[in-house]
Amino acid sequence: MSGTVYLVGAGPGAADLLTLRAARLLGEAEIVFHDALVPGEILSLARRAQLVAVGKRSGRHSTAQRFINKRLADAARKHRVVVRLKGGDPLVFGRAQEEIDFLRARGIVVEVVPGITAALAAGADLGVSLTQRGVARSLAFVTPRVGAGESPSTWVQSVLAADTAAIYMGAGEAPAIAQALMAAGKAPGTPVVVIENASMEHRAVHGTLAQLAVLAAQLSGGPVLILLGEVLRKAARAARSATARRRLAR
Ligand code: SAH
Repeated sequence: MSGTVYLVGAGPGAADLLTLRAARLLGEAEIVFHDALVPGEILSLARRAQLVAVGKRSGRHSTAQRFINKRLADAARKHRVVVRLKGGDPLVFGRAQEEIDFLRARGIVVEVVPGITAALAAGADLGVSLTQRGVARSLAFVTPRVGAGESPSTWVQSVLAADTAAIYMGAGEAPAIAQALMAAGKAPGTPVVVIENASMEHRAVHGTLAQLAVLAAQLSGGPVLILLGEVLRKAARAARSATARRRLAR
């Protein structure tokens, strides 16, 4: 016997942003392997399931990934419904392909259930359309993070080529990101928003690319996404005047 492994997107954090399909599968699951970022409120939907946390610490990714692949395959031999729950969308910076390929090579059926990726939740929190008529016709999802042995990324060129960019897994390297983009010709005045905990009790700080390092340093430990592009200019202005109003009111 072999069960099905469902690669399920948990969305950006708010439980009610799960898809109905994700919620149903969590209810049916016998075992759930979840990332560290998935909130308890979502895990509690997996009423009957054994919960296994498989969060990866950076630096130990590839060993951890092989271990997760193996555990998923073992679980599929014992259980009918195996859920692999990943933050956001499973197919965006989630190392899903390694799991899909490993399982399929062993004849295990894999199905993917999409989730709302962080960039879309961030746009929603800000009330800013990431594409805009006459302003932004392209949207890049990038990460500067490269694994050991991988060739250097082309993320800088992608950001330069896109009207709006969402930078994942970048907050810890904000100074280097700003440097790399400006050195490649991105205008220092490009509007930037750094947003932490999108879709939940989020915090967003606005500024320019030149200020990115300072902006990122203001946040405190939650998952952080960097958005940049002209579409954010009005939102930045609105945030500045709201801050000024608060100062005046004090
Ligand atoms: N598959 C996920 C991304 C995984 S990579 C997705 O589709 O969203 C992890 C990175 O996603 C974090 O470093 C951060 O950059 C971003 N991220 C995930 N959840 C977030 C949230 N709620 N708010 C802001 N950024 C988030």
